[in-house]
Amino acid sequence: MDRRQFLQASSIIVMAACLPGRLRAAEKKKLYLQPMGVKLSDKDVAMVKEALREFYAFEVVDLPRIKMPKSAWYSPRKRWRAEKILDVLEELAPKDAHRILGLTGQDISTTKGKYEDWGVMGLASIDGLAGVMSMLRCRKSARNRKHARIRFAKVAVHEIGHTLGLPHCPTRGCLMEDAKGRASTCDREYDFCDNCRKALKKWNRPIPAFPKIPWPRPK
Ligand SMILES: [Zn+2]
Ligand SMILES: [Zn+2]
Repeated sequence: MDRRQFLQASSIIVMAACLPGRLRAAEKKKLYLQPMGVKLSDKDVAMVKEALREFYAFEVVDLPRIKMPKSAWYSPRKRWRAEKILDVLEELAPKDAHRILGLTGQDISTTKGKYEDWGVMGLASIDGLAGVMSMLRCRKSARNRKHARIRFAKVAVHEIGHTLGLPHCPTRGCLMEDAKGRASTCDREYDFCDNCRKALKKWNRPIPAFPKIPWPRPK
């Protein structure tokens, strides 16, 4: 197992003289969103964009949609290998990319322990350039499209958290919690816990102190 962390789901960033949130767009580091393949709506991408803008002081930039990379096709299970998609995203990333996040509605998987091919919601390199995530498992047992979309956006904040160095967090309800195979874990998540937020601050990651969180606080 390499340093890539994933949300398992069988059933399922710069401190300057002023606050990061007030930095002009040109001064912000760039986070590119790369939509891939079919089965993902523009609304799904827009929700991810909104969440990432609130949680991280990045300039979030859309890239034009591309096809799923052929090199990632896993024919025995007719789905796509997440670690191979990360390799492609690292190649594709524009030179000024601080981070890049692939978004898809297709099924993605990776090797987990003794499981050769395990379906995941997302995969990202710890302190690395790229992450990738799938909407597929967010839709399972979701009340409606908006509910699935909120889960998807939470996974996006989670995966980018990994790329900024955060491991899984033991605090229940923290956005860095391990989903442990269930998309519904996202439903009890709201914000980073104090420990995760402190870690990001300590590492000078571009995070605003008071995000306008774009989903309701779980009851
Ligand atoms: Zn994770
Ligand atoms: Zn935490």
